[in-house]
Amino acid sequence: MVMGTSTRTLNIGIIGFGPFAQFLAETMIKQDHVVRATSRSDYSALLGPKFFRDMEEFMKVGHDVIMICTSILSVSEVVKSIPFHCLKKPTLFADVLSVKEHPRQILLQEVPEDSDVVCTHPMFGPESGKDGWNGLNFMYERVRVRDEDVCSRFLNIFESEGCKMIEMTCEEHDRLAAQSQFVTHTIGRILSEMQITNTPIDTKGFEKLVQVKENTANDSLDLYTGLFIHNRFAKQQMKNLEHALERVKGSLEASMKNEDGHN
Ligand code: NAP
Repeated sequence: MVMGTSTRTLNIGIIGFGPFAQFLAETMIKQDHVVRATSRSDYSALLGPKFFRDMEEFMKVGHDVIMICTSILSVSEVVKSIPFHCLKKPTLFADVLSVKEHPRQILLQEVPEDSDVVCTHPMFGPESGKDGWNGLNFMYERVRVRDEDVCSRFLNIFESEGCKMIEMTCEEHDRLAAQSQFVTHTIGRILSEMQITNTPIDTKGFEKLVQVKENTANDSLDLYTGLFIHNRFAKQQMKNLEHALERVKGSLEASMKNEDGHN
């Protein structure tokens, strides 16, 4: 735990209560934090009176942290619609989007000056984190933090579960994630288009490919599209993939011509 971090529970308000927010909330509630949420759809069946249909009522609660967990494609519209004038006190705004420069820019533009901003990306999801978060990567940038105590207590939610905490800029995250996460999702979607499934004679390598397909297939198309549109490094990675496939095909075709020449 970060030195001097108190373990006092946090009032956490979540905006966007889809699959990933519900997955994170489960652990937050297990850690005795108080979780309230608001979302476009009605999730009162899941959260009872802790779910707010009305965004103004939600903002008046007096949260320590407001966690933004909407889709990448909707974050601009959602953050711009937050009634910040209803905030009772300076609050930490934390996002968990899978791209980082885009929400960072929007939060810096929209969040009132006396509130803090931390941008984070838990590098796992409901599938890869279903057996716990121990050893899984958690990226964050303290974008604008004055209340160190609240920020440390928020980060400690992940650290105390065993996450590997990685502090880096949002720009560096997007550069690295384009060549790792975006490529993984793209390969997963290609394998899904090819409808690959296990066979009775699977190699270990093929089993891993099926795993990649299954890990990415459950994520929404909005998430994947967001990784492409709002990470400025993703387009180059898509070109790299296309060129690599062309080169691999080219070398096979050259070998075939050589072979034909010998016969
Ligand atoms: P998602 O499809 O990326 O986002 C679903 C959430 O976005 C829901 O709360 C949904 O609200 C909201 N939403 C979508 N369009 C909206 C609109 N036009 N207006 C208002 N709200 C809208 O699925 P997700 O897996 O739950 O991901 C949520 C966020 O976490 C994303 O930014 C994603 O990049 C990030 N993340 C996901 C994972 C993962 O493994 N899934 C891992 C790390 C980070 P309603 O449900 O109310 O309709």
